[in-house]
Parts: sequence; C-alpha cells; structure tokens
Amino acid sequence: MTHDEIRREVGRWLDENWSADLSLLEWRNILVDGGWAAPHWPEEYFGRGFTTEQAAVVKDVFEERGAVEAAQIGPRRLASETILANGSDDQKQRYLRPILTGEHTWCQLFSEPGSGSDLAAASTRAELIDGKWILNGQKVWNTSAHHADFGILLARTDWDLPKHQGLSYFLLDMHQPGVEVRPLKQMNGHQSFNEVFLANAEVPAEDLIGGEGNGWAVAKTTLSFERRSFTRRPTGGGTQGRKRGRVYEEFEAELLIATEPYTWYPQREGRVDLVLQRAKETDAIRDPAIRQEIAKLLSLSKGAALVSASAEAKRKAGTTEIIPAGSIRKLAASVIARQAAHVHTMITGADAMLSGSKSPGGGIIAEILVSVPAISIAGGTDEIQRNIIAERILGMPRGHRFDTGPFRDIRRNVS
Ligand SMILES: Cc1cc2nc3c(=O)[nH]c(=O)nc-3n(C[C@H](O)[C@H](O)[C@H](O)COP(=O)(O)OP(=O)(O)OC[C@H]3O[C@@H](n4cnc5c(N)ncnc54)[C@H](O)[C@@H]3O)c2cc1C
Repeated sequence: MTHDEIRREVGRWLDENWSADLSLLEWRNILVDGGWAAPHWPEEYFGRGFTTEQAAVVKDVFEERGAVEAAQIGPRRLASETILANGSDDQKQRYLRPILTGEHTWCQLFSEPGSGSDLAAASTRAELIDGKWILNGQKVWNTSAHHADFGILLARTDWDLPKHQGLSYFLLDMHQPGVEVRPLKQMNGHQSFNEVFLANAEVPAEDLIGGEGNGWAVAKTTLSFERRSFTRRPTGGGTQGRKRGRVYEEFEAELLIATEPYTWYPQREGRVDLVLQRAKETDAIRDPAIRQEIAKLLSLSKGAALVSASAEAKRKAGTTEIIPAGSIRKLAASVIARQAAHVHTMITGADAMLSGSKSPGGGIIAEILVSVPAISIAGGTDEIQRNIIAERILGMPRGHRFDTGPFRDIRRNVS
C-alpha cells in the first residue's frame, strides 16, 4: 500500500470507529480487532505486516485525529516484541492482546546482585517439579516491577552446562505469594526500580519461552530492542491532554502510572535543550571557555542525531538494525549526557547543587547532575558497549575468558 492509500484507509476507519466516549478498554479492543493497534506486527497476530515506515504513517494519522493508540510503553514493548519473535502460538494468543489493550503491564527481571553486565551469569534457579517451574533467587533494578502484572525473566535451569547454555526464559505472573517486590529509592529522589525476591514462585510449564536452555538467545532479542529504543520516551495518542471524553480521562490515568518511573529520563540525557537558554539567562554565554564547551556539546549532539537519522532511514528502508549500531548510539548518548552535565555545572556554578523549586531551573539542574550517571549504566554500561564495538565492529580480538566450562564450577560474585 502506498502512504496515501494508508492515510485514506486509516482515516476512513477512524471516521467509522473512533469515539472519545468509549471506555479505554472498549476502544483498544476495537483497535486490536481492526488491525491498527500494531500494524507492523504480522496479520495473524493483530497486525498488518506493515513496514516501520508504513506503521509511522498510521501513527501520524492517529496523532492528527487525537485518537488514542495501543498501550505499548517501556517493558510492555520489550515483552511483546520478545514474545512475538520467540513465543509459541499459544503464548502469542494469550499475551499479546492484553499488552496492546493495556490490561497487562510488564517488567523486565534480568539483572541480579551478582549479574548485571555479565547477564549470562544469572543464578536465579528454576527447577521443573510436578509439571511446574519453581523459581528461587533475587532480581534487582527492575523498573516498574511495583505495578507490573507479569515479568520477563531469565533463570538458570542447568548448572552443569556452560553459563550461556544453562539459561531459560520465563513469563512470570507477578501476582503470587512467591514474588515479593521491594522498591528502591534513587539519589535523585525518584523511585523507579525495585528488588524482586522469588521464593518458590511458580511458572506453568507452558510459560517457558523459546525452549529450555535457549534463554540466552531469547534474551538477546529483548536486549536488541532495549538498546534500539532506549532514548525513546513513552508517548501517548498526541493531543489527549486538550480533549474531553471518557477514553482520554482513562488514558491520562494510565499514562500517569505507566510513565511515572520515567519522568526523570529527560534529565538523565543531560537536557541539552536547556543549555543555550540557561547560558543566555545567566550571561555565561559571554565566557569564552563556557562557549567552547557549549560548542563541543552541540556538535556532539548534532552528530549523534545525524547518525541516528541515518540508522533510522536504513531501518525504514527494510534493513534490520544490528546490536552494534545500538551500542554506538547508546555510548554517544552517555558521552553527550556527561558533557551536558559538565556544561550545566559551568553555567550554574555551585548553585547547581541546590535542589527544590526555588533553585536553578526549578531544581532541574540538580536533578540532571544526579540522574546523568544512570544513562551510562541502564541497558548495558559504557564499558560493555565499548567491548561490543571493539569486538563486533572493529574486529578486535576478544579478551581472555575465565568463565568457560560448567557454570557450577565458575567463580562467581556471590555471598
Ligand atoms: C535507569 C536504569 C533502569 C534499569 N532497568 C532495569 C530493568 O528494568 N530490569 C533489569 O533487569 N535491569 C535493569 N537495570 C539494570 C542494568 O541493566 C544494570 O545496572 C547494568 O546492566 C549494569 O549491571 P550492574 O549494575 O550489575 O553493574 P556491574 O555489571 O557490576 O558493573 C560494575 C562496573 O564494572 C564494569 N564492568 C563490568 N563488566 C565489565 C567488562 N566485562 N569489561 C569492562 N568493564 C566491565 C561496568 O561497566 C561497571 O562500570 C536498570 C539500570 C538502570 C540504571
């Protein structure tokens, strides 16, 4: 279909179906049944098999009309794309629809106290007992786990195989006695993550995804989506804030909960957008040393935007983006965020440390300084991105490995 044909068809369909008086769930069910909730997904799973570019046209029409989209924010997207790529037909039928309608929220249960960068060293244990997987262990840094219905989870099912081969991937129901979620408070005052303790938590046999021992391959799908989209902020239907109707009210309420853990994410990117304005307001723009640092920041930021635009254009043209391209973008974002924090500090001086509404930028400058470190950690640290770039893009030799052989014999960072 051409873009004009898509525009016309979506427009016609919205004329016939869209109403702000419906409940959010009623509307989303109509949306899923109509095949417009995830048009880039295959036809047999609620989509239309559109390319990313065609799907972007659909999104544009929805935004122009102020029509509410499917629910796809943060971990929900990681879960749905992973299930779509690796799940059984039964898993896709059971889990994809409630993700699109917003009935189910998800979280990512990968990191553990002894395995973050070295994710394949996960030691949460899963044992098949009487037809059910029984899970024991601890996860950490799990964004949104405090209001998640389900979690995508990596656990060890075989301790005698090398570490990457003994892992399996599960879809975990968070609402059960064996799952305890404890929120963690960050230094920027927000509370986005949690610790999750698993004590005989249960997963039915049919909720192992991708087959026993294939957890690492499945996790790589999730990670590729995480690095590809890590700078993208959750968005809604566009104009809902100015519209009236039941669907908007319920959508606003949904967004408030779903986006709450991400309100500080713009600050962790360094708020490059504020730099020139602040430099002018404070007259710091006259300082040649500061001007030089601003120029450095803006050229880095523009360069990264151009690299992203070129990768996006390739993706829209049908190329499947590979993980190393995501690694370059992620590393660039860290460098830019750190430079932005440096420039904000030069502009604001010691007052940059003050928080509260009467402090510089209404407290935003201080929040930037304590949020920027997170961008170098989340979704794989800078050092890990450098390893990936060195080995997979530059073709440099891999470092020595001390973690081959059966997992149970590997020395691990556990108490
Ligand atoms: C904002 C945010 C959101 C997050 N959300 C989630 C989530 O929803 N779900 C989830 O499961 N996790 C989540 N995480 C956790 C995140 O994935 C881990 O923090 C990250 O992978 C790093 O692991 P770690 O904290 O254990 O650090 P470690 O792996 O212990 O690293 C410590 C230091 O050692 C360095 N290092 C480690 N290995 C190497 C190496 N081979 N070569 C060179 N240097 C190395 C690291 O770069 C780092 O500087 C989140 C983290 C943040 C900050």
